[in-house]
Amino acid sequence: MLSNAIDVCSHVKVVVRVRPTNDNEKCENFRNVVQVVDNHMLIFDPKEQQMTSFGGPRVRNRDVNKRANKDLKFVFDNVFGEDSSQVDIFENTTKRILDGVLNGFNCTVFAYGATGAGKTHTMLGSSNDPGVMYRTMTEKYLPPSYLGIKETHFINEQSGFKLSIEISQGFAITGLQVYNEQIRDLLANVGPLAVREDPSKGVVIQGLTLHQPKSAEHILEALDYGNRNRTQHPTDMNATSSRSHAVFQIYLKQQDRTASLNPNVRVAKMSLIDLAGSERASATNAKGARQREGANINRSLLALGNVINALADPKSKKAHIPYRDSKLTRLLKDSLGGNCRTVMIANISPSSKSYDDTHNTLKYANRAKEI
Ligand code: ADP
Ligand code: MG
Repeated sequence: MLSNAIDVCSHVKVVVRVRPTNDNEKCENFRNVVQVVDNHMLIFDPKEQQMTSFGGPRVRNRDVNKRANKDLKFVFDNVFGEDSSQVDIFENTTKRILDGVLNGFNCTVFAYGATGAGKTHTMLGSSNDPGVMYRTMTEKYLPPSYLGIKETHFINEQSGFKLSIEISQGFAITGLQVYNEQIRDLLANVGPLAVREDPSKGVVIQGLTLHQPKSAEHILEALDYGNRNRTQHPTDMNATSSRSHAVFQIYLKQQDRTASLNPNVRVAKMSLIDLAGSERASATNAKGARQREGANINRSLLALGNVINALADPKSKKAHIPYRDSKLTRLLKDSLGGNCRTVMIANISPSSKSYDDTHNTLKYANRAKEI
């Protein structure tokens, strides 16, 4: 009965979030290169006359080299401008796929973008204004009702009668990072952990600890603790930037309580991912160990891009999806493609200071769209 769920397609929803200009970018040397046209379209590096600030045409900051502006139009499932709130993002991205998890399908949300583009703000946020991770974990469909009983109604197609069954739900979260192609438990602060595939359980990360937060405060604490355990490089030019991919997962276990023999149990996973910065290693003058790190970041991001492109391409017939090419894609093998729903939140700065990063992120996001 539980498996008789709604049809969920593997569509990858791609949205873009433009963060507000920061103080460093508010100077004469930089201009705004992202024009949000509407909820679905933006123009990257628009022609001068299209640039308006507060309704008037912009005259200053004309390109001294008289280089033609790229004026590239991009269309996405959603474009969120600088004024978008954390609630806007949650309501229009992650919340839309939550019923997929409740129906037993694995779902994935990830934030992509260069360092400083707003990924951690979007996924984690602050305790005053939490992001997607906290909002998902405290959503009313999930906790605290997950610890108790939920009544669900099904229509028996033959008889047409409505049928009520009780489903008891179990809810747990995990947190891990992928750094230098190694997996580490962020909530127990141990690692490296091995990943393997189990024929019945799907992807299993050996030794990864499951946590059952009992309140919203516990969830906030767990997310904060996990994020503080992420590998950081205070000596790096981007002192607070993270070089690791952070993956928080919600495990939702549902059991039909009315069937005492052979209880119908299903587990669905929701993966919420704050990816490492997508900028090229060369851009940060990487040397030695840092360079190897950069190569691995690119390997995981490249592999993720290849997997998503293969899934999005109707011609590939899903024959070969290159999940095995990186740790990140291996551990997401049962959470991308198939019946899984995926949302990609591409984060960008509006400033010409991040011109190449923004252009690259938009190209990456554009390729991820299903044709
Ligand atoms: P990333 O994780 O991609 O490196 P962050 O999320 O840390 O970037 O964002 C960089 C800075 O910009 C942080 O100080 C963050 O608070 C701020 N910021 C990012 N996005 C927004 C936003 N939408 N609104 C306000 N501040 C933001
Ligand atoms: Mg970050």
